Formats: sequence, structure tokens, C-alpha cells
Amino acid sequence: MELQIREFSVDLRQPLSTAKGDIERREGFLVAVDAAGTTGIGEATPLPGWTESLAECGDALNSVSDPKRALADGSLADAPAARHAVSLALADARARAANQPLATTLDTDSHTSFPVNSTLGDAGLESTVEAAKTAVSQGYECLKVKVGARDPSEDADRLRAVRDAVGSGVSIRADANASWDRWTADRFLDAVADVDLEYLEQPLPATELDGHAVLRRLHDTPIALDESLATVSPKRAIASNAADVLVCKPMALGGPDRVRDVAARARDAGVGVVVTTTIDAVVARLGALHVAASLPDNRAHGLATASFLDGDLADDPAPVRDGTMRVPDAPGLGIDVTDVFD
Ligand SMILES: [Mg+2]
Repeated sequence: MELQIREFSVDLRQPLSTAKGDIERREGFLVAVDAAGTTGIGEATPLPGWTESLAECGDALNSVSDPKRALADGSLADAPAARHAVSLALADARARAANQPLATTLDTDSHTSFPVNSTLGDAGLESTVEAAKTAVSQGYECLKVKVGARDPSEDADRLRAVRDAVGSGVSIRADANASWDRWTADRFLDAVADVDLEYLEQPLPATELDGHAVLRRLHDTPIALDESLATVSPKRAIASNAADVLVCKPMALGGPDRVRDVAARARDAGVGVVVTTTIDAVVARLGALHVAASLPDNRAHGLATASFLDGDLADDPAPVRDGTMRVPDAPGLGIDVTDVFD
């Protein structure tokens, strides 16, 4: 059982600024594996800060001689993006062999569709309100607003203005991307107490589990962790009572199987899971879609990220419509292997 590996590069529509600098394109590897009598495909799109580097990912994939054993023996433990590609390709092959959508093979009660959130950037109040209205008119019922670039009282005013504009029927999440300290987060949470946020995502730096636990005790607004899961294990995050919700990126956690393991553990602890991408190409986005659909919670996931890319590896069989993504009916991921890998 051999792994075929192909490099790819997809430009972003606009450079994306992150804590690790601007990203202009997403580069990674498509893999194909023959298993269960058929071919499955996977994608490794590493994002330093969350995963190994591109070079480390390529080395890890090239070191795989037996894909199944590589998943089981821990040899890809330090290369989550590489592990993701192998795990996804094997899961895709199994689902294609069973002639079922991947989500169905992960859980027979999987959802056929689910809502996704629309992400609004850190623009000023009026632009944010306009973007929120546009998203709601497109059918989104969940908005994620970036905060943390300005004073917390200004961010609170932005969120209150969005709430006033969209009404009480729309969920609003705020994502601070680890930009605050405890006191700034306190000020923000005091100021948005009447806004009815679904949750505040990652107010504090990644390693500050205790700080997040304190915020949960002091405020009614639920707390989600995202960046923390790049540095601490989901198990520790749950045990620290630091989160109401874990934001799970399949690429960063090491594959669809890993996300399902984390989700099961989270569910046992009463913690929710939201699945998001690392701005991946179509193969990994579809993988994330199937994993999200397989989870019992039908909450909005953060998978509406295709629009960040200028072009893709193939046509997307699961575009966002009315703020919703549908699981493709076709077997496996729902994309022809020959469309991306011939
Ligand atoms: Mg986030």
C-alpha cells in the first residue's frame, strides 16, 4: 500500500494577516492511497503555528511506507498535517469502497446539512454592521466577528450595533485571537453582558488555561478555545475547565479520526465542538465537512472558508448556500479522484 504524493499551491484572494505574518498562498500536498480495493485521497496543508512546516510535512509524508501503520504507530505525531492527509485518504477509501458518503461511515446518524458561520473582519462599527446585514441577507444565521484590534469598549459597541441590526434570532460569536490579557477580557465581557453572544473565542494567550477558566467563572458569556489547542492537548483544556466550546481544526489535530476522538471526550465533559479549517483546499475542506456532519451537535461550523482562495484544486461539490453546507451524496469525500489526482 503506497502513498502517492503531489505538491500544490493555491493563491489567496487577499493576503491574510496572522500572528505569524502575512500568508499569500496555501501550499501543501495531495496524497492518494490504494486501500479497501479503491483509491482514497487526502490533503496536507500545513500552517506553521498550528502544524509542522511545509518541508517537515513533505519529509513526514515521504517517510510513510505503510499508511495504516503510520497512523497507528505514532510516527506522524509531530506532523499533524501529514497525519491528516493519510488519515483522510484512508477514511475516503473506506467510504468509497462502502459506496457511502464519508460522514455516513463515521456515524450512521450523521447530518445531511448544517449551518456555517460567516466571518466578519475587524473593520469599524459601520462597516461591521453592513457586513453583518449582508451576511444575514445571504442566509447566514451565525456571525463570527473579529475583535481585539481596538479598545474592548469599542468592540463591545460594534457587537451591540450588530445585535441591534440583526435581531435576536441570529447567533453572534466574537473571536479575539488571543489578543487580550485577563483585565482587558474582563472589561470586554462586562461591556457585552447584554449582547447575548453565543461565545467569546480565545480572549487570552494560548497557554493561559487558568485565565480562561477564571473568565468562565466570572462571566455568563461562554468561552471557546481555538489557538490553545495548538499548544495544549484537548484533554488538558477540558480538564482545566477552560472552555465551553473547543474549536477543532482537523488539519491541526491530525485528521478526522482525531477530531472525532476529541469531540467524544468533549461531549462527555459537557463541552461543545465547532469544526473549522486552516484555510484549506477543497479536499481538506470536504474532509472537515464530513467530520462536522458526523458529530451529534448540529451547531454552526466555521467551514465557509473557500472564498478566501483564488482558485482551487477542483470544483467544490459543497458550496455554501443560504448559510448552510450540504453533505455531497456521492461516495467518500464526494469528489472524483481524477478531478484532483490523475
Ligand atoms: Mg479562532
